[in-house]
Amino acid sequence: MIRKAANLLARQAWFRKFLLGTPVLRDLAGRFVGGDDLASGARAARSLNARGIQASLNFHGMHVLEEGEAIASADEAIQALRLIRAENLDSHVSVKLTKIGLDVDPCLCRAQLIRVLDTAAETGVFVRMDMEEAVYADATLRLFEDMQDRYGTERVGLVIQSYLRHRSGDLDRLMARSARIRLVKGGYRESAEQVFRAKAEVDAAFLSDIERLMTRGASPAIATHDSDAIAWTLSLQQRLGLGKQDFEFQMLYGVKPELQDRLVADGYRVRCYIPYGGDWATHLVGCLRRIPAGTLAHLTQWAPGRRRAASGC
Ligand SMILES: Cc1cc2nc3c(=O)[nH]c(=O)nc-3n(C[C@H](O)[C@H](O)[C@H](O)COP(=O)(O)OP(=O)(O)OC[C@H]3O[C@@H](n4cnc5c(N)ncnc54)[C@H](O)[C@@H]3O)c2cc1C
Repeated sequence: MIRKAANLLARQAWFRKFLLGTPVLRDLAGRFVGGDDLASGARAARSLNARGIQASLNFHGMHVLEEGEAIASADEAIQALRLIRAENLDSHVSVKLTKIGLDVDPCLCRAQLIRVLDTAAETGVFVRMDMEEAVYADATLRLFEDMQDRYGTERVGLVIQSYLRHRSGDLDRLMARSARIRLVKGGYRESAEQVFRAKAEVDAAFLSDIERLMTRGASPAIATHDSDAIAWTLSLQQRLGLGKQDFEFQMLYGVKPELQDRLVADGYRVRCYIPYGGDWATHLVGCLRRIPAGTLAHLTQWAPGRRRAASGC
């Protein structure tokens, strides 16, 4: 209920204006969100690249209900791909299917995805299809397999969520076709029938999937801020004799930046997911909800970082 209300509020233009007009909140937004538009998202990507961190730009938002909005969102992804190539940024693009029309009409969504992937092929930039609520899992998988056949494993990849109860076969099926997978715990509120609800169960499923993906996956991407999961991945890398560059960690922009830097300094690949665009406040609300109160208090007093973040780089 509170989560729903917070998200509703975050979608209001006046609320975003309020956030930006309040220095402490504006600084926090600067830390976790790429900015209002592609130019600010690209600035954030450039600043990450300068720290040796790769990026994945995401025109934030989901569940568009109008055809025009879906086409405009695909246009945004296309512009991001062109900008990445033109500015030689080390970045992927992440796309949510409901942002490009899956709720409006699956055929519209497919047509938009093809436009995006045609541009990905032209620019040589990789596109990751995010995974959303469980109700979209089958459609997303089908579309992904179709796109992978069409554009190849080097151009398009998918996300697998470990919290799903009945879908552990998806990982095997995708690994068998050498799909490039980003593995996550899973981030949506779902019924207890669909997903593990207890943290211990989610964590156990995630660790087990990490082992499967690190053992048999192509270019595994382990997306987590969980130190146990990161330590487990590092131990697997050693046990399996993998190189430090044979897989990558992925984290959200602004979350545990010191950990990101430390992993890069140790020779590992780290990629940050940068949400940008007018719907950024919903992402910020999600991050603020997850930050422990003590850390939040620290962040709001951290003047030098605040200033840097507020300028978007
Ligand atoms: C790059 C990336 C892409 C993702 N893509 C998808 C996707 O396509 N589909 C999907 O369902 N989910 C996606 N997620 C979200 C994911 O499923 C988890 O919900 C999220 O990463 C939190 O899980 P965790 O592994 O970090 O572990 P947790 O145990 O949840 O968190 C570990 C620690 O990190 C901190 N933390 C975690 N998330 C945040 C945050 N947002 N802000 C501040 N602190 C945080 C926690 O407070 C905790 O201290 C993605 C996550 C990342 C990093």
